[in-house]
Formats: sequence, structure tokens, C-alpha cells
Amino acid sequence: MNLEILPVSDLKPAIEDENNLAFGKSFTDRMFVMEFDRAKGWHSARIQPYAPFTLDPAAMVLHYSQEIFEGLKAFRREDGSIALFRPADNVARFNQSARRMCMPEVDEKFFLDSMLELIRMEERWVPKAEGTSLYIRPTMIATEPMLGVRPADQYLCYVILCPVGAYYKGGIAPVKIWISDHFVRAAEGGTGEAKTGGNYAASLYAAREASLKGYDQVLWLDAKEKKYVEEVGSMNMLFHYDDKIVTSPLKGTVLDGITRRSALKLLSEMGYQIEERALTVDEVMEGAQNGRLKEAFGTGTAVVISPVGSFCYQDECVQLGNGEPGELTMKLYNQLTAIQYGRQPDPHNWITTL
Ligand SMILES: *Cc1c(COP(=O)(O)O)cnc(C)c1O
Repeated sequence: MNLEILPVSDLKPAIEDENNLAFGKSFTDRMFVMEFDRAKGWHSARIQPYAPFTLDPAAMVLHYSQEIFEGLKAFRREDGSIALFRPADNVARFNQSARRMCMPEVDEKFFLDSMLELIRMEERWVPKAEGTSLYIRPTMIATEPMLGVRPADQYLCYVILCPVGAYYKGGIAPVKIWISDHFVRAAEGGTGEAKTGGNYAASLYAAREASLKGYDQVLWLDAKEKKYVEEVGSMNMLFHYDDKIVTSPLKGTVLDGITRRSALKLLSEMGYQIEERALTVDEVMEGAQNGRLKEAFGTGTAVVISPVGSFCYQDECVQLGNGEPGELTMKLYNQLTAIQYGRQPDPHNWITTL
């Protein structure tokens, strides 16, 4: 397929204050778009001015949520070059989500090359300040106008970019986690392992409840027994017991996080034994009380690593550590970000530079 480059006339003013970029609120001058219909397949791939779409009010995505997305980042390095972290993994996961949602797959090489071309053209939007990055949001929606429940015959796939500030403004800080014993995010056989909008819409109610009670995030339990910890918001959870790292297995209800994958690799290289197994909420609460659970942290592209300061479950709250991020959490955070920003070698070939 051919990638058409359309002219952009009005360029937005440059970023004023790189240290005060709100997450996901301002976007760059251009976006990548391509269209799909059953007869032609993917077509009309282009880089065009960032602009609203015209959608039929009956577009199927608006009624039945046939939608998928991805999230990754481009980092500005000290030598001025731009690096992406494991972007081919995101494109592969985009196609996995597409299959689960009965949406057409994209040509992974073409899609990745187009994304890299877009970032090259939008180079001036990759911020330079410590901890900042350009967040990349590939998305696919069902556009066919039809009120009927079946996979659509028309789709739009696009990539938008937004410069984002350092996630932790005042330094990396532990979060307060509420473990929900009532609401669930994903059930076995459901869509938990797909990055699809409906999962997030379904999570809002519990997240708001947690927020009103003063918590930062919800930790979801399994839907069947409400006994095993799964994941948090848009983060996988890793638990550090003695010399082991325990994390929920990927069995359909948990998203296969690329940060999780990378963290497990680095932790196993540091000598930790990795256990991907069902972990009960009781093990977490008791472990925090008796000190065997040393640290717990979330992993995800937006935060990289997010340390947990406390877990609250039913009427009980337990603290982890002394209010500061744990030693291993910081070591892992520093190691991952050093690879991303090019301050350390990249022995695993995770980095794609422009
Ligand atoms: C995106 C996401 C993650 C983290 O995945 P990364 O590839 O590490 O960014 C974890 N859980 C959910 C539900 C997510 O949507």
C-alpha cells in the first residue's frame, strides 16, 4: 500500500512549557489515517492534518463499541535522537485485539513504518525535558452506519500523537489501592486481554467510587471467585516476596502488558525467581502485614512503574514500606527508563530509533 502525505497549512504553536504538559489533552499537527471496507481491504493510507472526523450517527462503534487501541511512547534521547520502546510488540497486540473484536488486521510492517514516518514528520513535538515523551495512540473504530449487531464492514484506523509530561512531577510516589470485592473488570472468556474501549467504560464506576473514598486506583479480583488479584486500571501488578516476583498469569482476563514483559525479563536477570501464578488477596494482605510482601508495583506504558503504598480490602488497610517507593521498585524504574532514554545499553533490542 502507498502512504500519501497531505499538506498541512496551519501549524500549531510549539509547546510552551514542557514541564507542564497535561496527559492526553493536546495533539500534534498531523495524524495517520487509513480506511477499510470488505471490497477494497485497507486503502487510502495517509498522513494528513490532525482534524475531527465526520461520522455517521449510526456508525457501529457508537452503538456496539467495536473499537481497539494501543498506547506507546517515543522518547527524546540526550543525543537528540528519538527512540520507541518495543513498538512492534504494540502493533502485534493491536492485531490480537483486532482478532478478538472481529476487526480486520493491519499489515504490521506497513502500519509500523507509517507510524514511524508520522513521528519523523512530527519530530518537533517530541519533548526534551526529563521524563517527558510523545505518547502514541493507534486506534481502530467500526464506521459502517448500521444498527445491527454483527462485525462491521467498514473501519477507520488512525494514529494520533500527544506530547506528555513526566508522569511523576514531584518524584515517583506510592499510590493507595482499593481492592474491589464487588465490581469486576473482566471474566474468563470475556474481552479482558483485548485493549478495547468497552473494558474501560465498564471500569469507570468502581474507579469513581475508589476516587471518592480517597484511593488512587482499583485492584481487580477475578470475576469468578473474587479471590485472586488480577490487575489495576491500565497496569499489570507485580508483587515482591522474599527473592520472588509473583504476578497474575495471562489467562485471558489480564492484559499482556509490554512493560510487564520487560519488567519480568529484567527482574529475572537480576536473579529473582518469577512466579506467574494465581495470587490470592489474602496472600497480599497477610504478606503486607507479616512483612513477607516487601514491595508491590504496577507496570504500564504511561507510568512505567508505579509503587503501591497501601492496599485496602473490605475494612482493612495495610501499608507497604515507609511511604517511599521500595528499593527494587526504584531499581527497576531506573533501569527501564535508562534503556528507554538511551542512558544504558539495550541488550534486548527493545529500542527502535528513528
Ligand atoms: C495497556 C494496559 C496495560 C499495560 O500494558 P503496557 O503494554 O505495559 O502499556 C495493563 N493493563 C491494561 C488493562 C491495559 O489496558
